[in-house]
Amino acid sequence: MFRTAVVALAVAVCADASAQSVVRTADPIKRGLKLTDFPRTIKVTNNVYTYEDFHAGDEKFTTTNMFVVTDEGVLVADGQGSVPETKGLVDAIAKVTSQPIKYVVICSDHGDHTAGNSAFPAGVTYIIHPTSKAILDLAANSWKPPANAVLVPDRHSLKLGAEEIDIIFLGRAHTGGDLSVSLPRRKILFLSETFLNRVFPAMRSAYPTEWLKALDRAEAMKADVYIAGHGFTESGPVSREELREYHKAVEAVIAEATRLHTAGVPVEEAVKQAQFGRYSEWTLSRSQAPIAVRRVYAELDKKLQ
Ligand SMILES: [Zn+2]
Repeated sequence: MFRTAVVALAVAVCADASAQSVVRTADPIKRGLKLTDFPRTIKVTNNVYTYEDFHAGDEKFTTTNMFVVTDEGVLVADGQGSVPETKGLVDAIAKVTSQPIKYVVICSDHGDHTAGNSAFPAGVTYIIHPTSKAILDLAANSWKPPANAVLVPDRHSLKLGAEEIDIIFLGRAHTGGDLSVSLPRRKILFLSETFLNRVFPAMRSAYPTEWLKALDRAEAMKADVYIAGHGFTESGPVSREELREYHKAVEAVIAEATRLHTAGVPVEEAVKQAQFGRYSEWTLSRSQAPIAVRRVYAELDKKLQ
């Protein structure tokens, strides 16, 4: 009996250690993966999966979707950036279940998560924040949400099969219409682009200080597993640490740009002078750091509405 207990404990410790030893990066090669490993489907827990495919561009990192399988259909959170890529997601879902896709939640309105949406079956119900609906309605060359899309300004709960699903607006973050999908029974929170796992805070359309508040709310929900819209799907303990780390990254970016603003450094000079320490190693830092500095300046200058 003693022996059995020791073995069980050893297994538990071992599983935990392997989760902790994963390479913390958005870069598939540094992670020890091959480019041919993607796209891929990851089982988060029974009936809850993520699908990871590469974002467009030379710097490889994943755009990550979540799907929830129930005996009354499937809910998908976010799509990929092109019709063939989102077709890949639809096909991957069909490999897991014969249940039809019933709902698609547009957690981020950006093209890398919506441009492939016409690959979803006709008749799915789209769920979207009114701000994101307005952005997509007005944007040139974007996928357009249908007129019967369900608008969620704050919170919307639905039951699909036995699964309780909450669609939540945690506040303006990366797009202004950011929605998250919570599975309260399983303590899983899909944060879409409110959480970029080891990807430099991308602020082209962001509300920097409000993003921090959204992250506060996400952490206060005390989920077991947080899923990012870009970067890898992590095990629960790693996902919680990485959400904290991402929160610190957004704080650091705002602090550095604010320091330069307070010192009276003109914005384009600040772009050159800004130092982001360890975050300058993160995916997309080169392209996103200047954009972030300009966006924090715009907020400080009260140019964001
Ligand atoms: Zn994105």
